[in-house]
Amino acid sequence: MSSLIQELSLADPYAVLGDKFSVPQAPTPLPAPYLMATSPSSLAICGISPKQATSAEFVEIFTGNQLPLQCKPRATVYSGHQFGAWAGQLGDGRAISLGELAGHEVQLKGAGLTPFSRMGDGRAVLRSSIREFLCSEAMLGLGVPTTRVLCITGSDSVVLREQAETAAVVTRLAPSFIRFGSFEHWFYNNDIESLFQLADFVIHRYYPEFINSKQPYTALLKEVTRRTAHLIAQWQTTGFMHGVMNTDNMSILGLTLDYGPFGFMEAFNPQHICNHSDYYGRYSYAMQPKIGQWNCYALGQAMLPLIGSVEETKSALSHFDSEYESKLTSLWQTKIGLTCYMAGDNELIKSMLEMMEINQLDFTIFFRRLCDIRLNDTSKDNYLRDLCVDRDSLDQWLSQYRQRLLKEPVESSKDDVRQPAMRRCNPKFILRNYLAQNAIEAAQRHDFSEIEKLRQILSHPFDEQPENEAYANLPPDWGKAISVSCSS
Ligand code: AMP
Ligand code: MG
Repeated sequence: MSSLIQELSLADPYAVLGDKFSVPQAPTPLPAPYLMATSPSSLAICGISPKQATSAEFVEIFTGNQLPLQCKPRATVYSGHQFGAWAGQLGDGRAISLGELAGHEVQLKGAGLTPFSRMGDGRAVLRSSIREFLCSEAMLGLGVPTTRVLCITGSDSVVLREQAETAAVVTRLAPSFIRFGSFEHWFYNNDIESLFQLADFVIHRYYPEFINSKQPYTALLKEVTRRTAHLIAQWQTTGFMHGVMNTDNMSILGLTLDYGPFGFMEAFNPQHICNHSDYYGRYSYAMQPKIGQWNCYALGQAMLPLIGSVEETKSALSHFDSEYESKLTSLWQTKIGLTCYMAGDNELIKSMLEMMEINQLDFTIFFRRLCDIRLNDTSKDNYLRDLCVDRDSLDQWLSQYRQRLLKEPVESSKDDVRQPAMRRCNPKFILRNYLAQNAIEAAQRHDFSEIEKLRQILSHPFDEQPENEAYANLPPDWGKAISVSCSS
């Protein structure tokens, strides 16, 4: 019988950087672990069969209780700005990297203490692990760049947070978990040699197109800035709020990284703060683009010694705004079925967002119902009007919208062309807090079926799935009031 312990061949790409960057660190076992969920697409990436994924050995490995023979586990150091202030050294305080498999770093989050645990216990709780698992799969389904998940395992071992909870380990995959804060770490420690080493490592492995650039570090900063701007444009048009956009949670690859108190916009309010530990709303929905830019500047600051010129660094950062604005406009346009840019489109989008705010429209349901609007027939408008307290504001906007649709090329304005195209970019299903909460409460009773059910639904969120209609509904009242904090 084939054994994963022998078979899984994990490379150790960070070995070349030496122990300064990451230290050898074995996971701490958890008693009597059980499997809660797996991601079939991630299993396929890792070359693990569905049958192997149900074995006791799989659970032992991905809880950190037994290691593959090849594996050299490590915890990595980084620093960062948290809520706008320099926080100094952070690092993998509870994440342990097993190495690289099929171009993906395999990381166990919640696998025990490391030299970077500071005041923490090295653990992750069931609740936050399920949320990270489901949101990673949801973002993948939505086409938003993200780190991925392989599986979650749990144990009845008690972990103390605001109350007593149980432990879980979520296995994450990404080509790299290197953060903006990884660069800041060496800059603020005035270790410029290590800063160069890290930058060269990142360029060689993840941005080889810049190896022969005249200014590889400038090219790297410019590309990370572009990716970050595009990522945030995708967040805004999906209604996704990260919740803790500290520089240590910003991926050097432009992926959504470190799911904590995230949320998806429901009743539209640009000032919405999804993280109840964010007292001043630094990371509100409306602030995300500015903070994304702020974070790129923090990275630029740390890369100054590499680039060697303030002017060149500023110029690499300066295209954040234009990259963000152009991506944002094109995403909004596609969402409302416009195939080309025309003067007045930005005003149309702006008035749409104002109208959504006045009516506190559910972000996902509004756009999905907008897909049903017909160009020359107002009979379907009531589906949208029924969502509004101020129907006049909707009617006015719809009239502007129809006028704009009439200017579309004949073919793309046709209902039977525009509507399906819009449904392909306006999801019917998102991970609402209350849906995650239901899956968490079932899992606390050792019923993991709801995690799997949600995972399946969210893996193809643009499809109608009439059998799952209930999962597309407005949240129940109790579900609107769920608050999520940094404690995880
Ligand atoms: P986060 O807010 O999850 O991005 O974490 C910020 C920093 O705190 C990172 O260095 C984490 O590794 C660390 N951290 C968070 N929770 C724990 C924990 N329970 N034990 C140890 N370190 C933690
Ligand atoms: Mg983090």
